[in-house]
Amino acid sequence: MPFWVDWSIILLIPAILLSLYAQYKVKTTFSKYTRVPARSRLAGAVVARDILKRKGITVEVERIAGVLTDHYDPGSQVLRLSEPVYNSSSLAALGVAAHEVGHALQHEEGYFPLNFRNRLVPVANFGSWLAFPLLFIGLFTGITTMVKFGAFAFIAVVLFQVVTLPVEFNASHRAIILLTEGGYLTQEELGLAQQVLKAAALSYVAAVLMGFLNLLRLLFGSRVFPRRR
Ligand SMILES: [Zn+2]
Repeated sequence: MPFWVDWSIILLIPAILLSLYAQYKVKTTFSKYTRVPARSRLAGAVVARDILKRKGITVEVERIAGVLTDHYDPGSQVLRLSEPVYNSSSLAALGVAAHEVGHALQHEEGYFPLNFRNRLVPVANFGSWLAFPLLFIGLFTGITTMVKFGAFAFIAVVLFQVVTLPVEFNASHRAIILLTEGGYLTQEELGLAQQVLKAAALSYVAAVLMGFLNLLRLLFGSRVFPRRR
């Protein structure tokens, strides 16, 4: 019997379709709006530094290799922007830069979902490392305690993905306000930058759906869809 393959696997189809669609949306909107320069002609790093300065927040803005590697590091209070964002004045670059500043503001304000998410990081890492081997061995040998521990580890991973949603949505919401307040984008450009952020948010939703449906399969799957023997 292959691991965890039963009729409940059809439950995953919507999640697979959504994650494929999200990947497609991220790729197409990002590549489209990477080629559209903002009228302000300000680069991502310039806008990020300007907003941080206006908000009175001491956060360094650095350059990082790769694509879509942009992130705010709350530990060292450094905002890292990828090559295509740092020096670019495209709508996509300004959207991403402002989104990362949004995370820095969340940290500065002690935004609860962000703190909670950061506290979950070690648990979720441990969970994602342990869940699969525990479930595999537990289901294979029939040791239910192992399956239970595996399920708890998996719940921790899904919980982390769920808590990531408000953090990401809120950062994008802040990004649009920050870009409006600073006058970095025109009203029309804001709508386009928003499309890039919405596409990115969709991939987080797809991850949650996949995790949640897999959890349902794990907890109820074999009872809801009995295996054929
Ligand atoms: Zn984010």
